[in-house]
Amino acid sequence: MDLTELASLRSAPVPPAAHLIDGTRRAASDGATMDVISPADGRRLTTMPRGTGDDAQAAISAARRAFDDGRWSDLAPAARKTVLLRWAGLIEAHAMELAVLGVRNNGTEIGMALKAEPLSAAATIRYYAEAADKLHGEIAPTAPATLGLVHREPAGVVGAIVPWNFPLMIGAWKLGPALAAGCTVVLKPAETASLTLLRIAELALDAGIPAGVLNVVTGEGSVVGAAIAESRDVDVLVFTGSGATGRRLLEASARSNLKRVYLELGGKSPNIVFADAPDLDEAAKVSAHGIFRNSGQVCIAGSRILVERNTHDAFVDKLAAVANAMKVGDPLDPTTAAGAINSHAQLEQNLDFVAEARQAGRRIVTGGTRILEDTGGFYMAPTIVAGVRPEDRLARDEVFGPVLAVMPFDTEDEAIALANGTDYGLAAAVWTANLSRAHRMVRRIKAGIVHVNTYGGSDMTVPLGGVKQSGNGHDKSLHAFDKYLDLKTAWIKL
Ligand code: NAD
Repeated sequence: MDLTELASLRSAPVPPAAHLIDGTRRAASDGATMDVISPADGRRLTTMPRGTGDDAQAAISAARRAFDDGRWSDLAPAARKTVLLRWAGLIEAHAMELAVLGVRNNGTEIGMALKAEPLSAAATIRYYAEAADKLHGEIAPTAPATLGLVHREPAGVVGAIVPWNFPLMIGAWKLGPALAAGCTVVLKPAETASLTLLRIAELALDAGIPAGVLNVVTGEGSVVGAAIAESRDVDVLVFTGSGATGRRLLEASARSNLKRVYLELGGKSPNIVFADAPDLDEAAKVSAHGIFRNSGQVCIAGSRILVERNTHDAFVDKLAAVANAMKVGDPLDPTTAAGAINSHAQLEQNLDFVAEARQAGRRIVTGGTRILEDTGGFYMAPTIVAGVRPEDRLARDEVFGPVLAVMPFDTEDEAIALANGTDYGLAAAVWTANLSRAHRMVRRIKAGIVHVNTYGGSDMTVPLGGVKQSGNGHDKSLHAFDKYLDLKTAWIKL
C-alpha cells in the first residue's frame, strides 16, 4: 500500500457530488442536496443530490434511448470487451483514490477496502469483459425439416439498486455482466455509499462507454429507488439489500410492468464447528474474521457459530482471544482490523440486539459496547454472545454488525436443524476433518454457498446467491449473465 498517497488523500476536500445522467453531471431537478456524513468522525464529508422522481425518470429515459438506438447493444461483443477492459484498467489505476474516498464515505477498513472495492470491481469488470465475446447461442436438436435457433439477446434497461457495505464490489457484480451483455443501466447507490460509484461512472465515460449507457442517480431509496422499481421502461431490476426493500421491489414490479426482479438479500449464516476440525485455532481465527471484518457489515458474515458441545467452552475462549486482539478504529489506518459502523442508525441497531440479549440473561463474552466515541465516529467492539437460544432474535434476525451469536450442539442432526432454522439461506461453513461428514453437511444445509474448513474468499468463478428469504438469482460467475440476457427462439421451416 502506498502510504504517502494514502496520507495525501485522507483529508483532501471532496467536492459536492452530482448525478451522472446521459453522460453529464447534474444536480437534483429541484436543487436539493443531502449531507454525506463520514462514519469515521461523524463529520460532513461533502454533499450529493437528493434525487427526485424526475431525476430517476431522466436517467431511465437516457438509458432507454441508449439501448434502443443500439449505440452499445449493437456493438460487436468484442468491441464492448475492449471498452470494458479499458474501464477496468482505469479503475485499477485510480484504486487508492477510490479506496480512500470509499472508506471516508462508508467506514470500511482500508486494508480490506482496497482489495474488496476498486481492485475487486476492476477484476469483476475484466472477467465479464473477457466473457462478452464467448457467449454463444444454440442450434436445437430438431427434426431435419426445421431449424431451431436459440438467440441470447441483451434484456434492455437494467435498474440496479445496491447497498452501502461494499458499493464497488457489489455494484460491479451487477454492472459487469449487464454491460458486457449489452444492456444499459440506471444505478441507484445507497444513501451512505454513493461517491465511489459516481466516480467509476465518470471513469466509464473516459474509457469510452457511450453517454446514457451507465447512469447514476443518488438520493433516497424511497424516492429514487422506488421510481426505478415502478418504471415501465426498466426491463430488469437487480438488487442487493434488505428483505424489506426486496419485498417492495417485487410489489412494484407486480404493479408496473412485471419486470424481472433479482434479489440478493441478507443472511444469518451458520458457521458449524465440529470438535474434529483440522485445526481449532485456525477455525477460531478465520471464524472471528468471518464475522468481524468490515465490522460484520458483510452479507455472508458467519453471524452464528454452532459449536459441538465438547469443545464449546474452549472454542469460545479462542474466539474471544482473536476478537480482543483485533484493532478497531480509524478505517484509514492500514493496521486497523475493523473500521467504523456505516451510520449512527446502524450502530444503534447493533447495540439494541446486545441490550436485548443481555436482558434475556445471555452471556456477553466480550464487547457489546460503543467505543471511541470521542472521535465522533461510529465504532463498536467486536461482540460475542454465548448461550443464545434458537428463539432469540439474535439467533434469527440479521444484525449486520459485529455481533456473533454462539450456540452449542450435540449431534449432526441438531446442527442441521439449528443451521436451517432461520428464514435465511445465504452462506454457511462446516469445520471438520471427516470428509464424509463434510459432504453430508454440504448436501443438507440450505444455503447458496457452504464453505468447508474456511470462511469467505470465494472468487469470481463461482456464483453467489441465496435460497429461502436470502434471495433469488446469482451474482458472480458466468451464471450471472442469465439475468441480463433474454432467450429468443427462431423456429424455421426448411
Ligand atoms: P436497504 O434495503 O435499506 O438498502 C439497499 C438499497 O435499497 C439502497 O440503495 C437503498 O437506498 C435502496 N432502497 C431503500 N428503500 C427502497 C425502496 N423503498 N425502493 C427502492 N429502493 C430502496 O439495505 P441496506 O441497509 O443498504 O443494506 C444492508 C442489507 O443488504 C443487509 O440486509 C445485507 O445482508 C444485505 N446485503 C446482501 C448482500 C447479498 O449479496 N445477498 C450483500 C450485501 C448486503
